Amino acid sequence: MNQELLEIIAETKKQLEHLRVLGVEGIRVTAAAPAIVPRPEPVKKPDPIENIPPAKPVTSLFGDIAPAAVKLTPSTETFEQIHAEIGDCTRCPLHLERTHVVHTEGNRKARLMFVGEAPGADEDIQARPFVGRAGQLLTKIIEAIGLKREEVLIGNVNRCRPPGNRAPTTEEATTCKPYLLREIAIVQPEVIVVLGNTAMKNLLDTREGITRLRGRFQDYKGIKVMPTFHPAYLLRDPSKKRETWEDLKMVRDYLDSHP
Ligand code: URA
Repeated sequence: MNQELLEIIAETKKQLEHLRVLGVEGIRVTAAAPAIVPRPEPVKKPDPIENIPPAKPVTSLFGDIAPAAVKLTPSTETFEQIHAEIGDCTRCPLHLERTHVVHTEGNRKARLMFVGEAPGADEDIQARPFVGRAGQLLTKIIEAIGLKREEVLIGNVNRCRPPGNRAPTTEEATTCKPYLLREIAIVQPEVIVVLGNTAMKNLLDTREGITRLRGRFQDYKGIKVMPTFHPAYLLRDPSKKRETWEDLKMVRDYLDSHP
């Protein structure tokens, strides 16, 4: 018999004996005593912590964030179609002071792409991205990882030079960026290096700063994105070249290990 029941019986006997000693000769039972039902064993509730599935690892040798759920939709467009559509663009105020629209250039089957902010004075005159001093440093960086400039693709978020080389406004970037994204969908490079804060924020739609994200692979629709310092910044602060070199070595190692 259940231990609890034995204790109740013993206690009841003690009470009755006590009443008898006091002179009570009987007690009236008016209703059937409720059946003593053994208490059910408490049901063990699932432990919410135990039941949380283990978090998927978000880091890997070549990635710091989990790959995006949204994958790039491959495109059958051509660069020529996109450039014809852009035409003599007047969609944003940057057209007022530009000389040329500066399109993305390079290998349209590139595994590696570089994306900057917007053309500067030299690019505006020559109608080619990254041909000024910062561009020459970019060419050296590309060669330092064993590639030729012609082997990669080089473009900008904005195709017209902002007056005084100011950063493009959000509206200007939002107007121009879709053309870059359409080119990315055509080429589908394996890695994109975003140069500086403005390019990084626009491609990744992030509010994080370059200092925090540089050197860590990010994701754009399944494409690895490496944020690093803009070469114009390296010209102003050459001490940052060491970190840029570390970032580019990661890119080189990724491409070498995924031939
Ligand atoms: N800076 C950029 O961001 N892009 C260029 O093409 C040149 C300088």
